[in-house]
Amino acid sequence: MSCEEEREYIFQCPECGERLEVNGPMRETLVERGCVICSATVTEAAFTR
Ligand SMILES: [Zn+2]
Repeated sequence: MSCEEEREYIFQCPECGERLEVNGPMRETLVERGCVICSATVTEAAFTR
């Protein structure tokens, strides 16, 4: 159990360059479903704290 899930991440799409601040659950959604803007495949490497 940690509070790390609450941390926000910066997502930057490798395809369209869109930057979004996301939280843990949103990050998982992006990895599963792809970029919300261009639908590119998103990997965990696209996220920084
Ligand atoms: Zn994109």
